[in-house]
Amino acid sequence: MAETFRSIRGKDKLVDDNNFIYNEKQRNVDGTIKYWKCEVRECNARVHTRGDRIIKYIGVHDHLSSAVKPKIKRVLGAIKDTAISSAKPSRSLIAAAVGSLTESELPELPPTSHVCRSIRYWRQSTASFPANPMSRVGFDIPERFRLLEKGDIFLQFDSGKEDVNRILLFSSEKGLDDLYSINNWAGDGTFKCCPSIFFQLYVLNVQIGSSTEALGSPTK
Ligand SMILES: [Zn+2]
Repeated sequence: MAETFRSIRGKDKLVDDNNFIYNEKQRNVDGTIKYWKCEVRECNARVHTRGDRIIKYIGVHDHLSSAVKPKIKRVLGAIKDTAISSAKPSRSLIAAAVGSLTESELPELPPTSHVCRSIRYWRQSTASFPANPMSRVGFDIPERFRLLEKGDIFLQFDSGKEDVNRILLFSSEKGLDDLYSINNWAGDGTFKCCPSIFFQLYVLNVQIGSSTEALGSPTK
């Protein structure tokens, strides 16, 4: 039994029972057998698969394998897929995807700030997300980022596209209502995931029951 996954470069990868990773090289004429080569360039080990079974091993790997590596690559591939297909915030994408990693595997993942940068890059290189502006001024926020899915307002305040100290404030109506009615607020700023033209992303949370709900507001 062999597992396949999609790498962040969009290539199909195969992992064998010993955690060696292969790239697909070729298929037979009717496409029923796939030929794979070890992803280590200098290594010539190959396998053939039919369906999800390895039917032939050719050559011996001249290097060690790692159980963590295929897992990390799979997680990064999954993060990329979700990043492109949804508008979820980078950090919650990462948090959801790393849930499958154990504590000892987590350090193998690139730093969160690097993954966030990759997510921005992946989104910009697909047509659905515009490139990050080069400056805080001179651009309008596109409608689909100003409104929520049902047409409710999400961009509650924009200090103006000519304001060099531009402040944007995002919240749902429900979020604003909660701010009015709930006494316990918590604030937290982040710099790492904030586009470099802005100073920081500051988030206000209110305590509802025993959990908290976030209201986002990227500020200058
Ligand atoms: Zn190899």
